[in-house]
Amino acid sequence: MTQKNIYIAGLGLIGGSIALGIRRAHPDYHILGYNRSDLSRNVALERGIVDKATDNFAEFAGLADVIILAVPIKQTIDFLQQLAELDLKENVIITDAGSTKLEIVQAAEKFLSGKPVQFVGSHPMAGSHKSGAIAADATLFENAYYIFTPTSLTKETTISELRDLLAGLKAKYIEIDAKEHDQVTSQISHFPHILASALMEQAADYADQHDLTNRFAAGGFRDMTRIAESEPGMWTSILLTNPTAVLERIEDFKRRLDKVAELISQRKEEDIWEFFDLGRQKRKEMKIHKRGGVDSSFNIFVDVPDEEDVILHILELLRGTSLVNVHINEENREDINGILQISFKNQKDQQHAEKVITENTNYKVIIA
Ligand code: NAD
Repeated sequence: MTQKNIYIAGLGLIGGSIALGIRRAHPDYHILGYNRSDLSRNVALERGIVDKATDNFAEFAGLADVIILAVPIKQTIDFLQQLAELDLKENVIITDAGSTKLEIVQAAEKFLSGKPVQFVGSHPMAGSHKSGAIAADATLFENAYYIFTPTSLTKETTISELRDLLAGLKAKYIEIDAKEHDQVTSQISHFPHILASALMEQAADYADQHDLTNRFAAGGFRDMTRIAESEPGMWTSILLTNPTAVLERIEDFKRRLDKVAELISQRKEEDIWEFFDLGRQKRKEMKIHKRGGVDSSFNIFVDVPDEEDVILHILELLRGTSLVNVHINEENREDINGILQISFKNQKDQQHAEKVITENTNYKVIIA
């Protein structure tokens, strides 16, 4: 394979992780990076995420065979406009990483049509609450969906070339229309973030008058509000670049809440039961917790005694697995299956963990 120059603009969590993933499959490729702040630029150089880095976006653009824009959505659109004015390699592949797609795809078509470049939208559907090059992780996208949204500037070979470049990310690559992407993500990602933040705001206001609110908030409340800790800037851009689909989901949800309120005020016991039963059945059918993808993880719950070194012993047994989180549930145990919750990146490690802990200890292990 010939050596290529890959230019990544934005050496944050996403850009840095993509660079590390590219290195896994193509150690011979030359990775050039742009970052506005010194901090992530220096971290990226120190960690070997990139070979060279600049704070001037235009500097490396002309050297690149592939350009990946991994900056906030507004900045991505601005860079697409700048690229139209720069002297680029003939046939360069340009893509992005933005969480919404239609506005980016439309901007690319507006600014780059008629130029000898290829463009396809991309959305690597994995992330975390961390940011910056310091958080970059070669395994971030393993088993996650990596969505391509084709445009009039996408050639027959554009996506296959990118899939080859990104093979080291070990993601699941899929192509969909940009508008469809924004609609589906409004339902499964954008709207749930609004709901989590609204619920958090409601509970915080309530806690002002009811002291026990904070103390009683446990498993169910924690699961419903976890994503309220996400980065506000990114979520503001997401909502502002996908307003139609998001507003439509909000209106739909208001109608559903009104319907439940009506059932409660009319004391319709059977209908209320059916409302919950339908939710339970639909969630089971969706098998959300069994798949890789956005924010999904594979958990085990271990009932451990409160003894010295128990957790250390378990972690020792799990050496070499792709462990992503360890949580000790000590307080209120409402709807929590065990004391020690360990999350893995993939099902293979989850199953391995269950096996080694069961074989080497007498603790009860539950997979969930
Ligand atoms: P990040 O904060 O870790 O990194 C963003 C990078 O962009 C930083 O290096 C920052 O220096 C740079 N940047 C910010 N504002 C800039 C500006 N005005 N001009 C030039 N550079 C600027 O963020 P991230 O999580 O890596 O997000 C990058 C892109 O990836 C965004 O478009 C986001 O929508 C998308 N994305 C994020 C996630 C996630 O969960 N974090 C998931 C999928 C896609």
